[in-house]
Amino acid sequence: MSGRVALVTGGTGGIGTAIVKRLADNGYRVATNYRNAEKAQAWQAQMRDAGYEIAIASGDVSDHEEAEKMVRDVEAQLGPIDILINNAGITRDGTFHKMHALQWQDVINTNLNSVYNVTRPVIEGMRDRKWGRIIQISSINGLKGQYGQANYAAAKAGMHGFTISLARENAKLGITVNTVSPGYVATDMVMAVPEEVRAKIAADIPTGRLGRPEEIAYAVNFLVADEAAWITGSNLDINGGHHMGW
Ligand code: NDP
Repeated sequence: MSGRVALVTGGTGGIGTAIVKRLADNGYRVATNYRNAEKAQAWQAQMRDAGYEIAIASGDVSDHEEAEKMVRDVEAQLGPIDILINNAGITRDGTFHKMHALQWQDVINTNLNSVYNVTRPVIEGMRDRKWGRIIQISSINGLKGQYGQANYAAAKAGMHGFTISLARENAKLGITVNTVSPGYVATDMVMAVPEEVRAKIAADIPTGRLGRPEEIAYAVNFLVADEAAWITGSNLDINGGHHMGW
């Protein structure tokens, strides 16, 4: 059991909850952020009933100051952050020729600027301690694009440039930086898509089904291990074969 401290942003969501549980199962001390205290406390109580003690800290990751405060709160509760999973994300779909500025800004702020906002206050401590794991949860659509998702695909593709630059800057300091790019996973984000569209998506996936949140958590758990020290600047595609190649 490692006892290392992990911050998973968006830990109350579908993929986030699976990551939180998987890391806690392996002895990591885990925290997540929230925007809505009532909702987060209900989630925390549910987790406690299931045997998980998860720390929560208030903070909207799209807001630079709030994100920094959230990081300091987690450190005050659990100690220095060893593992950061930048998982919080949203979609605001629409074809680009009809896309409002707010749709663009919300998605870039929440999915990409958040990565700066949360990683920046965490990275110096990792550099001082010479150990760290940073993972961005990107998306299949950041690799291949998607109709109606110019904003989301731009943000998710941006994560890769961030990852490979940060990986280079910190490779000699025991810090690995990677992205995980899920395909379509059965969470609220995807269940909001009309059923007939989901059925079409599933039919397009070589494995014939959507992914499970636990299948993403499995990969995250692999990448944060001590033994994964030579995996940095990588992207791990997890999509049932939906997108293959380079
Ligand atoms: P969910 O909608 O289930 O969860 C999203 C989480 O992010 C929630 O906890 C939400 O909190 C949090 N969040 C959103 N905006 C903010 C914000 N501004 N500040 C703080 N927290 C925020 O989504 P998924 O679990 O499906 O997705 C998780 C990640 O995986 C996302 O980055 C998504 O883009 C990515 N992904 C998902 C895929 C899928 O098929 N599901 C496929 C590929 C990538 P709150 O409760 O406050 O809204």
